[in-house]
Amino acid sequence: MISPFNPKQRNTLGGRITIALYRITQAIEHIFRERGKVTRLSPTQIQSLLFLKYARPGVRTIGGLANRLGVTHATSSGVADALEHKRLIKRTPLPEDQRVITLRLTPKGEDEAGMLEDVLDEIEAAVNALPEAEQTALLHAAQSIVRRLQQAGYVKIYEICWGCQFFRKDAHPDDPRGPHHCAFMDAPLPEPQTYLECPDFVPAEKEVILCSTEPID
Ligand code: SF4
Repeated sequence: MISPFNPKQRNTLGGRITIALYRITQAIEHIFRERGKVTRLSPTQIQSLLFLKYARPGVRTIGGLANRLGVTHATSSGVADALEHKRLIKRTPLPEDQRVITLRLTPKGEDEAGMLEDVLDEIEAAVNALPEAEQTALLHAAQSIVRRLQQAGYVKIYEICWGCQFFRKDAHPDDPRGPHHCAFMDAPLPEPQTYLECPDFVPAEKEVILCSTEPID
């Protein structure tokens, strides 16, 4: 069997790229572990705080966190326990369904999450060092790979509304509940909520830039 891990067999373009991607994930894991030594947080706890800062309110739950981390409900609950013990989050049962446990950052958790925002700066700096044409090609290639991995169930994509096929921009501009509309939830969307990450995001078209924070008309 041909394996990209075997240096003698790593002579195809696909094999070399696969190993390069593997090394990038190793670098990210290393960066998270190093940051964790300073903050006394595990890589999973770091991901959880950033998830709770930017996820749509409806998915800030034990189940939503489990989905995002790709772990079981019990593991997610354990992560929430540890973060609550550090007084970084607060768990509260949903009033209309006590079985659903919502999670929210405490003020201390907000501060901690804010200080973690730069955790991927080194990766971004390496990307920014590439010529723009290479960045564009890399973006499209990376998105295609991520989309395929998503379809295979290996990764869950959370994205903001702009660029989602369910997003209706300015559908009801005078509605006090929000000028935009989500056709998936059939609900109005206030502007700030359109910038929260949502697991129900479906790209409006293949070429849409999944990571864009720019409004797409
Ligand atoms: S389904 Fe799409 S439009 Fe609706 S909240 Fe999620 S990302 Fe926004």
